[in-house]
Amino acid sequence: MLFIPDKKHYYKNNDLSDFATPKKLHMPLFGFKSPLELLVSKGQRVLKYQQLAHKEGLFGSSVHAPVSGVVGDVLTIDEWDYLEVFNDFLNESEVPSPMNPEAISIPEFRQILQGFGIEGSGGARFPSTAKYAIEAGDVETLIINGAECEPYLMADYALMKNYAQELALCIAFIQRLFKIPKAIIGIENQHRNLKPILEKALTNEEVIGGVKLLSDFYPQGGELQLIKSVTGKTLKKGSIPAKAGVIVNNVATIYAIYRAVFKGIPYTERIVTLFDEASQKGRNYWVPIGMPVSAISDHFFRPTSEHFSLVIGGPMMGRSVQDEGMAIHKGSGGILSLYKSSYQSENCIGCGYCADVCPQNLLPMEFSKNVEKQDINQLQNYYLQDCIECGACAYICPSRIPLVQDIREGKRLML
Ligand code: SF4
Ligand code: SF4
Repeated sequence: MLFIPDKKHYYKNNDLSDFATPKKLHMPLFGFKSPLELLVSKGQRVLKYQQLAHKEGLFGSSVHAPVSGVVGDVLTIDEWDYLEVFNDFLNESEVPSPMNPEAISIPEFRQILQGFGIEGSGGARFPSTAKYAIEAGDVETLIINGAECEPYLMADYALMKNYAQELALCIAFIQRLFKIPKAIIGIENQHRNLKPILEKALTNEEVIGGVKLLSDFYPQGGELQLIKSVTGKTLKKGSIPAKAGVIVNNVATIYAIYRAVFKGIPYTERIVTLFDEASQKGRNYWVPIGMPVSAISDHFFRPTSEHFSLVIGGPMMGRSVQDEGMAIHKGSGGILSLYKSSYQSENCIGCGYCADVCPQNLLPMEFSKNVEKQDINQLQNYYLQDCIECGACAYICPSRIPLVQDIREGKRLML
């Protein structure tokens, strides 16, 4: 495990603000590893909350308009498709239809998850419909992932601090619906000031469970690491947690479920952290899904220069922004402007640090070597598929070898 110093404590308690809605949104037309099908056409006027695109099935999802406006073109940006929606600033919406949570059945709940576009908010964007393909009594522990161990990101922290009661209400609802005996919110020790706030909210809603403080080591927020920390169970990558009696949901996903079930509002906005390394300025904002990076960088990261690069997500697991048309999706916890590393990568010195920090007990140095040789058999022999792309190995490597880049390339070779 790895301890990564950061400066979150300087700015994590800054107020949560709204970011000005832009003139144009780029709605992501991709779900969990698959494209969505368009339901609207160019020139069509859409209302806020109107469904724009969807994909049926257990792994399907949907995306809704966060504003009213007019549909434009489909743009391909960095290999992904986005739908332009031109904001008319009239804010005319489809009327949300709150439901009676007490009357919702399990099949209806799954339909709500899919119809309201609820998906994993911690990065992987796993569809919640598939996660909740369980029946009452199947699961012993609901773990709510509040361990936001990526440096700089504090969006989940802001959510827990400001919306503890709403989270508790939703946790109690899920616990009742699926007859889950225990619900635990896992938070890092560095955020222990949240513990009494969350505990009070859980008690108010009669949630059976509590809050567990976790160590500040990275990657504590990984699903398998969290399951081990909370339940003591060790699961292999690729196994289905529900089969081991566990479900893990990110706190932002729980909040999205709350808005769907209790307010009738689809997943159209989320909290993100913006952090600028040059000015050491950080803050959390509510932003609409589909907010283009350019609309944020114009206001938050200026002046940018060749010494900085923008990252969507966190520095460990996120992606560098190749085109500022890329936009916030439901798994984006932040946009960061970070110093570019000036170090050149060197040869592996066999120090073994990468293996020491790997939470999956893998040998990352073997991946780079065998990706270069395109030796798929060896990549399989070293269990490349078990890598969770946490980035700990690349962070620690003294030779600055781009291990995660190599790992992603290796996974492509193995397809
Ligand atoms: S090999 Fe994968 S799981 Fe292991 S440290 Fe590197 S990125 Fe993380
Ligand atoms: S940390 Fe870097 S230099 Fe050390 S063994 Fe791993 S890949 Fe090689």
